[in-house]
Order: sequence, then structure tokens, then C-alpha cells
Amino acid sequence: MTTHNIVSVSGGKDSTATLLVAIALETENLQAVFADTGNEHEQTYAYLDYLEQATGIHITRVRADFTRQIAGKRRFVETRWREQGVAEEIVQAALEVLQPTGNPFLDLCIWKGRFPSRKAQFCTMELKRDPMLEQVVMPLMGRGDMLLSWQGVRRDESLNRRYLPECDEVGGGLFNYRPILKWDIPAVFEAHRYMGIKPNPLYSQGMGRVGCMPCINCRKDELREIAQRFPEVIDRIDRWEKLTQQASKRGAATFFAGSNAKHPKGSIADMTAIEVMEIASIRQAVEWSKTTRGGIQYDLMISEADSSACTSAYGLCEGSWEPVKIMEAA
Ligand code: SF4
Repeated sequence: MTTHNIVSVSGGKDSTATLLVAIALETENLQAVFADTGNEHEQTYAYLDYLEQATGIHITRVRADFTRQIAGKRRFVETRWREQGVAEEIVQAALEVLQPTGNPFLDLCIWKGRFPSRKAQFCTMELKRDPMLEQVVMPLMGRGDMLLSWQGVRRDESLNRRYLPECDEVGGGLFNYRPILKWDIPAVFEAHRYMGIKPNPLYSQGMGRVGCMPCINCRKDELREIAQRFPEVIDRIDRWEKLTQQASKRGAATFFAGSNAKHPKGSIADMTAIEVMEIASIRQAVEWSKTTRGGIQYDLMISEADSSACTSAYGLCEGSWEPVKIMEAA
């Protein structure tokens, strides 16, 4: 029986350390996989190229494709929206934008007519878990082989992860394996140093978490940091908001607010699309991130005190946001 070892790599420190453990243990049949959301910083793409070259381990890139779902939504808009009496200009605007762009994150939002939110975090499943399962794991199953899914999850990241076992069986020969579960952050960077691998440079540029930039669970201080250092990221989200808004029947879609953001004027559910975009757009969120207290309450954005965002048990998205001190890699 063959054992296939699949390491989920995000470009972040924990998944890199996990890959380094697998390499140090001279693990056979080792495969590294990166699920590209299309919402990554370009330095992360460059880092993956570096990691691949420095370790000699090929990193398989997988991407979700929503072409079929967008075609289905087009048919729905053409028929049901019209039957429901949706204004023809809204139908036309949606049809104009309901075309696959090839960017998984944007296509997902165009298809859904909204952005994911903390309460409806469909991005992790649609952009990471499913493409990995469909494109890498499933083709290896059913042959009587064993599959070990290596996950860069640490217990001290969140309550969700605190009681996870080091290894558990999913079924069908698939097992989850979490070799750095008991590690702390210094140990993670020590593994980089020991193996002569540089951490993702985003860590030395004020980022405490590497993954989607920004993540929908982004904290206030993280958003402020991103806006200061990478204004082009905010410009991109601004463009995505306008496109997603066009695909929304209500005409309102904001990156952070989901549909539950609160404002002193009341819930955004009661506001017009223009009012929503005026108070809850990415640009407004950035302005708010510069304030010390008060302002608009984005209740889906994580408060500065909460460092447990984005902590699925499977380690698909890097967990806590906390500025980290990087130890120099050798
Ligand atoms: S990093 Fe954040 S935005 Fe990206 S898939 Fe994970 S939860 Fe969603």
C-alpha cells in the first residue's frame, strides 16, 4: 500500500514549517498543494516560486472554476429575475458582469452577488477545500492507498484548534495529520532558520497573517496596515465591489459588511444600495480603520481584541492576526 503525503501550503509561516517538517523527515510521495484564491498578494506568489526552488519540492497550484455556476446564474437572471419584475436596467447590468473573469475570488462573488462574511464564510470551502479535494485528493482515493493530509495548524492559534488531535481519520483512507500542533510561533520561525528557508517577506512588512489580502475576517489594525503599505490592494477591492454590486439584485455588495453591518442610522438591510456603498464600502472601512474608536460599526470585522479569526480546524486559512517578530533565516 502506498502512502501519499499531501501538504497544504498557503505561503504562510505555519504551512511552510509543516512542509519543512515533511522534508526533514525525508517523507516519501510528498506533494505540496497551494489553493490559489486569486486574492493573494503578489509577494505570496513570488514566495511560493522561491519555496519551490529552495526546497526542490514542486508545489501544485489548484484554482476553483465557477464558469458553470456563473452560466447558471445568467440563466436565472434572464428568466427568474424578469419574472419577479426586477427592473430591466438591473437585469442588463447583471448580465453584463456575469462573465467568468478567471479570478476565483471575484468569480465566486459575482456568482453569489455578494462577498463572503464571517457568518457565511463560503470562501474557505469554495476556494480552498473543494479545489484541493476535487483536483488532488479525490483522484488519489479509491485505490486502496493511504492519504495523509498534512495541516499547518497550531493549538495556540484559537479555541477551535486547541483540542484537535495530532492525527485523525476522515475515511476512505484519508487521514489528517498536524505535526506542528504543539508548536509556538518562535518554533515555527526556528524551523525556517534551521532549514535555511526565508519566511514570506510579508511578515517583515507588518503583516501578521498571510493569505487573502485582505481576508474578509481582517481586523481593524490589519486593514489599516494593508491600506498604508499596499494601497493597490484597496483599489482592487474597490473595483471588485463595483463588479459584485452589479451582479447583485439589490445593487449593494461590500467586502466587509455582508448584509448585517450596523450603522448609527440602523441596519444596512434597510438602506438603499447607494446609502450602503456610501457608508460601508472598502474605502469607508479604510477610513474607519484609521480611527481610534467609534465611527461605523462593521460588526463582521474582527475587533482588535479578537485574534481568533479565520481559524477553521483544517488550517486552510492562516489563523490569528498578531504582529510577529521574525528570526533571521540562515
Ligand atoms: S483567508 Fe479569509 S477571505 Fe481568504 S478564504 Fe480564508 S477566510 Fe476566506
